Amino acid sequence: MQAVQFDEHGDRDVLEYGEFPDPEPDDDEVLVDVKAGALNHLDVWTRKGLPGIDLDFPHIPGSDAAGVVEAVGDDVTRFEAGDHVAVSAGVSCGKCEFCRHGEEPMCVSFHILGEHVRGVHSELAAVPEDNLVPVPDHVDWEVAGSASLVFQTAWRMLLTRGRLAPGEKVLVHGASGGVGHAAVQIADYVGAEVYATASTEEKLSYAEEVGADHVINYEADDFAGEIRDLTGRRGVDVVVDHIGAATWTDSLKSLAKGGRVVTCGATTGGRPETDINRIFWNQLEVIGSTMATPGEVDDVLSLVWDGTFEPRIRETLPMSEAARAHELLENREGFGKVVVIPDSEL
Ligand SMILES: [Zn+2]
Repeated sequence: MQAVQFDEHGDRDVLEYGEFPDPEPDDDEVLVDVKAGALNHLDVWTRKGLPGIDLDFPHIPGSDAAGVVEAVGDDVTRFEAGDHVAVSAGVSCGKCEFCRHGEEPMCVSFHILGEHVRGVHSELAAVPEDNLVPVPDHVDWEVAGSASLVFQTAWRMLLTRGRLAPGEKVLVHGASGGVGHAAVQIADYVGAEVYATASTEEKLSYAEEVGADHVINYEADDFAGEIRDLTGRRGVDVVVDHIGAATWTDSLKSLAKGGRVVTCGATTGGRPETDINRIFWNQLEVIGSTMATPGEVDDVLSLVWDGTFEPRIRETLPMSEAARAHELLENREGFGKVVVIPDSEL
C-alpha cells in the first residue's frame, strides 16, 4: 500500500508518500480502506519530535481518518466488511482504575494513534475495534474523516471538564482552528454566550457564522481588555485555551470570579508565567483535558453525522502533498480542517 511516512524527525521535507507493507489486522482489529483523513496540530508536533516519545520508524502519521471496513479480526463483533467507520484515536487499557471508572482519557497507559504509535494516513489501516465509530452512509468522507479528534476534544473540554452551563459566558481562542471552531459550535449549542478570538477579520466573520456572539481580533486588540469591556468588568465563566504561552496570562485575566480555564494544548509554548495570586484571590480553576471517553465520542459525533455540527474543510489534498498540508497548519493559513486523501482515491 501507499502511506504517508517519515524515517526521522525534522522539517516538512522528511515527509514522504510511498510504499509500505500492507497491515495485517490482529484479532481485535479492523482493516480499514481509508477514504479520507485530516491533519491536526499534533501531526506537526509528532513530525518534529516530542520529548519522551520514541517512534518506531518509519512512522505513519495521522490520528483522524474514515473509510470502509475491508476485513475484521476473529474477535471483532461490532463491524463487518462494507461498514463505514471513523477513527477515534485515543487508546486506553480498559483495566486500570481510571478506565474502570469510565475515565479512559486518564488511563495510565493512554496513547494516541498517530502520535505514539503508527497512525492512519495510508491507503489501509489496521485499527483496534474500540477505536472505530460507525458512520452513517450519507456522511461525506471529508466530514467523517476530519471530525473525530477536534470535536471530541472540544466536547469533553467544555462539557465534562469545564462544566459549561447554558447562559454562562465562554471565551474560545483560535476560533478558526480545528478545536476552536468545534468549541464555538458546541458552546453555542449548549446555550452559552460565546466570545471568540481570531487573527483576521475573515476568520472572525467565520467564527460569527458558526455561532460566536462576540468576536475579538487578538492581533489588533488586547483581548483581556476587550473581555473586561464587553462583560462590564465581570469576565467570562470559562476560557478554552489551546494556544498556551501567548494567551495564558490574559486568559486568566479574562476570567470572572470562580472562573475556569480549560487547556488541551500549548501550540505557542507550555511554560507561561502564572499569577498565582490571581488564581487564589479570584478562586479560579485551572483544568486540563485531553481527548474523550467512548461515550463522549459517540455523543458528539452523532451530532456531527446529523449535521448539527459541521467540521469546516479548509482544503483537500492528495496524501502525496502531506508536506503542503503541514505548511497550511504551521502558517495558520485559512480556517478549518486540512483533509488528505489517498492519491489512488482521487
Ligand atoms: Zn487504563
